[in-house]
Amino acid sequence: MNSKKQVLISQLIQGGWLKTNRVIETFKQIPRENFVLDSHKNYAYADEPLHILGGQTISAPSMVAVMTELLKPKATDIVLEVGAGSGYQAAILSRLVKKIYTIELDHNLAEFAERNLKKTGIKNVEIIIGDGSKGYAKHAPYDKIIMTCATQSFPEPLIEQLKINGIILGPLGAEWHQILTLGIKKKSGLQKKEYMACVFVPLRH
Ligand code: SAH
Repeated sequence: MNSKKQVLISQLIQGGWLKTNRVIETFKQIPRENFVLDSHKNYAYADEPLHILGGQTISAPSMVAVMTELLKPKATDIVLEVGAGSGYQAAILSRLVKKIYTIELDHNLAEFAERNLKKTGIKNVEIIIGDGSKGYAKHAPYDKIIMTCATQSFPEPLIEQLKINGIILGPLGAEWHQILTLGIKKKSGLQKKEYMACVFVPLRH
């Protein structure tokens, strides 16, 4: 492991962002430099979001750590992601769950994510081009759903496509200020819990 990566991972553990051994091991294994633009490779192990293409961003490692931990990934999980972006969040999850379907609205980003995942040797992530707010009914219901773009509330089709007791996680709120929110689907409805303030790019249509 290179030293910048080692320092970052120790910081994420000390800061309480990374908690469980499986997730820590995965952070060590997946090269974030494969998911950033060539011009940003020197910053791959800074705890910062970085621009990718089309004004979008790869989330900061601490945010990917928090979201991954909150999803409580299991080896049998089938996961839906909304917003493939660079493919990094999906790459992290790929080592922790069975299969990920990730929807990306932007063709160029879908290709970028595809290339990044391929060069990292990841085979259990499928990228779908489309509007993720409609979900992906083909493989529903999902054990977990992760949104990496912001909306006012969880889109109804996503809640429908979640298993009972399944987890949906995403940034909810206004354009420049959201709260990372986790929902557990119960027969009676969604039980929501708010975690922390965050800023994600907005979900577009
Ligand atoms: N998970 C990504 C970060 C994604 S940034 C990573 O690890 O790098 C948010 C992404 O959501 C952007 O790529 C943006 O194009 C995408 N997006 C925005 N609206 C969308 C929609 N309706 N459906 C699918 N993707 C969308």
